[in-house]
Amino acid sequence: MSVTAQTRLLIVGPPGAGKGTQASRIAERYGIPWISTGDIFRANIKAGTDLGKRVSQLIEAGQLVPDELTNEIVADRLKQEDAANGFLLDGYPRTVDQVHALDRALEADARVLDAVVLLEVDTDEVVTRLLGRAEVEGRADDTEEVIRHRQNVYQEQTTPLVELYTTRDLLVTVDGLGDVEEVTSRIFTALDTKLAG
Ligand code: AMP
Repeated sequence: MSVTAQTRLLIVGPPGAGKGTQASRIAERYGIPWISTGDIFRANIKAGTDLGKRVSQLIEAGQLVPDELTNEIVADRLKQEDAANGFLLDGYPRTVDQVHALDRALEADARVLDAVVLLEVDTDEVVTRLLGRAEVEGRADDTEEVIRHRQNVYQEQTTPLVELYTTRDLLVTVDGLGDVEEVTSRIFTALDTKLAG
């Protein structure tokens, strides 16, 4: 199959669905930068920047960073040269307000999205995964209480996006359960089909 140079993708799914792992593989396959808002925030916290100081408590509590701040960071990131021919956004948009902000940022440069990958997994499974990750990575937002809160935030704030992108005929739903390779191959098959259509 031919991989187009301009591929603009989102990956959506509950915390612990394996978005990061799959996102890096998708980005590599389509030759586009992988842009994770969570990674941007964590890098800023680690480096002790002003942004990091503003967001660290919210992130540790499993709450969303305010839309206005997040939207600005993403709009700036999408203006960078490496994103001119495509990108994969991971963890953004997460609210309906962010969807509209992303629409505006793309419209300003006459860009459009090509597909939105929804990684579906069952809640019990993701909580188990996240508790496992807490042991390995020691992320401050991987305690059981915060994990549960982040799942609720996803249900309330982010699931409305699924309907929105379905209406726009952009959604590609993939079963996120199973081993990593298997899920990757499901994503590639589904995405190739969608992008070819
Ligand atoms: P993630 O690595 O995508 O799970 O993000 C980790 C944390 O960063 C989230 O729980 C939020 O606190 C914050 N965050 C990441 N992306 C966003 C976003 N699009 N909007 C608001 N907060 C975000």
